[in-house]
Amino acid sequence: MAEFFTPTWENIEDQILRIARRMAQDQFLPNAIVAILTGGVIPAKLFSDILNMKNIKYIDIKFYRDVGQTGSRPVIKAVYANDLENKRVLIVDDVSDTGETLEAVTNVISMFSPAVIRTATIYVKPWSRKIPDYYGEEVGKWIIFPWDKWEVVRTDPNAPVSKKEVYFELHEIFSRMSN
Ligand code: 5GP
Ligand code: MG
Ligand code: MG
Repeated sequence: MAEFFTPTWENIEDQILRIARRMAQDQFLPNAIVAILTGGVIPAKLFSDILNMKNIKYIDIKFYRDVGQTGSRPVIKAVYANDLENKRVLIVDDVSDTGETLEAVTNVISMFSPAVIRTATIYVKPWSRKIPDYYGEEVGKWIIFPWDKWEVVRTDPNAPVSKKEVYFELHEIFSRMSN
């Protein structure tokens, strides 16, 4: 994909604060956060500190986009969650694209019999079939997050990512070590 959207750490903070303000307006205070690994972890930590609520659980789910294309589904690898019964749960990810990931995670978490489930992502794609209860902004491009820029540049060396020379240098050193 040629077009990228590259939010800075500062942009991410602003979106997180906007979303949290909307939760405050709704009088919504979760008592459990479920972070979707790995992109949801940093947003979940930021929400956790703003909400002053330290109870974070994790779910490991992978969407193998290049295999199969149509009909492909995210695969749940592990669920690091317990004690969600009657809890107000906030599921957090960095972005919802097709919406499959949020839908699968919502289905799994609902099996723990929480009182309420709400979802939050920093960004949502305009075509997503699952609109999160809370999101910062709609973006119709491939988003490069500050926390996954090295992941992107590894597969697309031309991606507009700062400090990539340093990344490539270190990546080569560690690659040699692993052989
Ligand atoms: P979905 O299941 O909604 O199609 O995809 C959600 C997952 O795919 C997210 O957890 C995220 O890891 C990844 N993803 C989808 N779109 C983007 C994007 O534009 N940028 C990045 N970095 N990850 C994305
Ligand atoms: Mg993800
Ligand atoms: Mg990711």
